[in-house]
Amino acid sequence: MPPKPEPAKQNQNWTPRDSAELYGLERWGAGFFDVNPNGRIEVLHRRSGQGIDLLELVRDVERRDLHTPLLLRFSDILAGRIEQLTDAFRTAMNHYGYDGSFRGVYPVKVNQQRQVVEEVVEFGRPHSIGLEAGSKPELLIALAILDNPDAYIICNGFKDRAYVELALLAQHLGRTPLLVIDRLSELELAIDTARSLNIRPHLGLRARLTSRGAGRWLESTGERSKFGLTASEMVTAVERLQEHDMVDCLKLVHFHIGSQITEIRALKEALTEGSRTFVGLHELGAKPHLVDVGGGLAVDYDGTQTNFHSSKNYSMQEYANDVVSFIQEACDESNIAHPDIITEAGRAMVAHHSVLIFDVLGVDVVPGETEVEPIEEEAPKILHDLTEVLATADDGKFHEAWHDAVQLKEEAGALFSLGYLDLRDRARAERLFWRCCAKVQKIVRTLDHIPEGFEELERAMADTYYGNLSVFQSAPDHWAVKQLFPVMPIHRLDEKPDRRGVFADLTCDSDGKIDRFIDQRDGKHALELHALDDNPYYIGVFLVGAYQEILGDLHNLFGDTDAVHVRLNGNGDYTIDQVIEGDSVRDVLRYVQYDQKTLLEQVRTCSENAVRRGLMSLDESTRLRRRYEQGLREYTYLCRDH
Ligand SMILES: *Cc1c(COP(=O)(O)O)cnc(C)c1O
Repeated sequence: MPPKPEPAKQNQNWTPRDSAELYGLERWGAGFFDVNPNGRIEVLHRRSGQGIDLLELVRDVERRDLHTPLLLRFSDILAGRIEQLTDAFRTAMNHYGYDGSFRGVYPVKVNQQRQVVEEVVEFGRPHSIGLEAGSKPELLIALAILDNPDAYIICNGFKDRAYVELALLAQHLGRTPLLVIDRLSELELAIDTARSLNIRPHLGLRARLTSRGAGRWLESTGERSKFGLTASEMVTAVERLQEHDMVDCLKLVHFHIGSQITEIRALKEALTEGSRTFVGLHELGAKPHLVDVGGGLAVDYDGTQTNFHSSKNYSMQEYANDVVSFIQEACDESNIAHPDIITEAGRAMVAHHSVLIFDVLGVDVVPGETEVEPIEEEAPKILHDLTEVLATADDGKFHEAWHDAVQLKEEAGALFSLGYLDLRDRARAERLFWRCCAKVQKIVRTLDHIPEGFEELERAMADTYYGNLSVFQSAPDHWAVKQLFPVMPIHRLDEKPDRRGVFADLTCDSDGKIDRFIDQRDGKHALELHALDDNPYYIGVFLVGAYQEILGDLHNLFGDTDAVHVRLNGNGDYTIDQVIEGDSVRDVLRYVQYDQKTLLEQVRTCSENAVRRGLMSLDESTRLRRRYEQGLREYTYLCRDH
């Protein structure tokens, strides 16, 4: 394949548009993000389209004594996503002439932060958006926060008597809970509790579908799923309800085939089976009027619109069209009134509204560009060999050059271990090797496809940017399930990014890194970045509003980041609504049972001892204790100022 010439683009005619294209902003941004002429990211108001400058916002927040890493939540984007979802269903229902209505609920587990749940309830009010609880703690949240009797509370998950009682009594509180039966034993518990409280419960049955989701979370469905009733259990459930004269209590059929469904085909299969189950229950004499299709509406994190795990091969409108038309068709065939439709789309509702900003603390550059001094005649042969490879690594022979270079580098290591090469010559061999790599890489980058075996080169040659963050705390799915998030600098977008790098985080864990990035295919191993200058360099990790906060852990005791809620007011201005301070060091130490007083006492005692034994001056001991106390008070991440 003939190499393509390097793009002629010089730094001076690189525009912010080029950056937008490079980082795929329009493909994943869902209309909420853009680049402004100053080369910075803007967050756009959902209606007016007026943007605010993300860098200005970060500086503004820093003036309030909050620090990066910083989580920014944009209420306006959350409201926008709720509108997009409800609009998609309204459009589909109008289009097909559907008689039922759309009743979305938000699954609390996706982001349980009080401020987030409160905002979902606030922005969802005009659309009667309810809440879904998957556990008793989440039910307690939903009961307190959802004050809208028109909105449903879907009660899923494992249930004990206390859970069931709470859900039933909430009916008399003016709430509308639906108790979803996950296992037959729960039905007995529900019947029993309802009778003893003398309440007619609103019940749902969760179907165990045999069609499976496609993607990372497909284990949550299928015959071996831990949730839902099989066909025969469904029949038993209806019979039990009939025996107790409670079949009218059955209001809803529920199914859920997993999160981030990347394939529309999987959804269609589930919808077919789920709608048939709904119709089947009617044929048994039950009269549910609600179908809950669960969650799973995916987010196109990489903007490729494919069935890759960090993408999806359908639009939100296509999803709504399929849900509505499949249910409608099944009901029309059997002359059953169209049910109201519930979705539990969590990820799709909240992923877009949070952005994590971190700063870069420093960078390690691979020494591919350092000159190597000429190799003298009597130098070890291996250095001459490497010099020759370097000279011949031209386009046609880059494969060969790369293989030779790798082999010679290994040989140099072996010669060194055996004592045939001294440290200085080994260092020269290393530099020559990196030069070869840089040369080969330059050629490989001009190719349309990175040839097999050369991905490794891209990874090896990437600079390491040290990010002031913990991946385990702030983007755990990147580590746990290799999910990709859009990552890009939020400023300097009017400059051509001529470095390629990966991010290493603050933890001592070699997995603590961001080293896979979105691209037009299945991800790449290095990201285009700018060389550091004297100013802070801020990187945004986008679409982190779903699951990341609550799955985050305290690896190396890096705690919650500062978080800020921002409201755009549509004219290019904004209000900082809420500030949630992240963990201090003493907060995270308390989680693991260290008491600040005791720690201070212990340090005081041993510094007094040290002073007494003449190991330390009194001034030093005071200084140490001050630093220690300050350390306990401060943020768990690094501060640039001191
Ligand atoms: C996790 C979960 C959801 C949310 O799924 P998303 O992919 O975030 O939409 C919905 N319903 C149930 C039962 C769940 O367990």
